[in-house]
Amino acid sequence: MPDPRPRSVTIDRPAGLLVIDWQDGAHCEYPLAGIRFICPCVQCRGGHELMGQPVDPDDLQQMPAEGVSTEVVAASFVGDYALQITWGDGHNSGIYGWSILRPLCPR
Ligand SMILES: [Zn+2]
Repeated sequence: MPDPRPRSVTIDRPAGLLVIDWQDGAHCEYPLAGIRFICPCVQCRGGHELMGQPVDPDDLQQMPAEGVSTEVVAASFVGDYALQITWGDGHNSGIYGWSILRPLCPR
């Protein structure tokens, strides 16, 4: 199967959602708090050996620790394979690959 690709990506700040319409027709609304919780960077994953492991879809419903920002300041595309998000506390090292996000589509 080819890598999933988004047709459109929207940050709905008032609703606290990352909204992605995928080319396969799926419409997915990801809670921003959960997106921050699953931040795939080395620091948040707790080490290189834990990088690249599949994310538990239940983690998307988790809340980050107190003081961890769930406000999106900026979001930009990384090549054609990922989204980089800059959070309100300046954290921006998480690269959210489409291959991470597509399987996590909340129902
Ligand atoms: Zn992180």
